[in-house]
Amino acid sequence: MSDKQQQENEISKEKLLVEAISNGTVIDHIAPGMAMNILRLFNFLGNKNNHITVGFNLRSGTQGAKDIIKIADVTFSPNQTQQLAILAPNATINLISNYKVVDKYPLRLPAETIGAFDCPNSNCITHVEKGATPRFKIVVEDNEILMRCHYCERVFNREIVLEYNGMKSLED
Ligand SMILES: [Zn+2]
Repeated sequence: MSDKQQQENEISKEKLLVEAISNGTVIDHIAPGMAMNILRLFNFLGNKNNHITVGFNLRSGTQGAKDIIKIADVTFSPNQTQQLAILAPNATINLISNYKVVDKYPLRLPAETIGAFDCPNSNCITHVEKGATPRFKIVVEDNEILMRCHYCERVFNREIVLEYNGMKSLED
């Protein structure tokens, strides 16, 4: 098989994976092992009315392996997209309509998350004050994703925040 044929073959396989739902959102190119964390964080995805398909460790031309999540009849809000970007900054969002990819964009790290993660600092006011929605400013330093609490102003490595919130990052 020529390189071109092989490439076309890969693309059609990719298309099949992506287009298997009629309408909804596909989170593609998730680092292997992260799909479960994403499902855990996004409780609304677990709504029993949502039809979700998850692929683990699928072969991927660019990354070696990847996870993929397909959610029928769901479109992410800008805020949800930002939260997702903390967990899977290298993933790609595909919007599907009538079995076709109508929009496709890479995730980007947000400048801030609001309400997506609890603060790991046990003395933080967010653990006492019900009205204080946990907020973090996102900073990248030396290729590390750091999260600074809006209230206690402590700076945490993303891994610490994910771990505290019951998630584990396998990226990096
Ligand atoms: Zn805090």
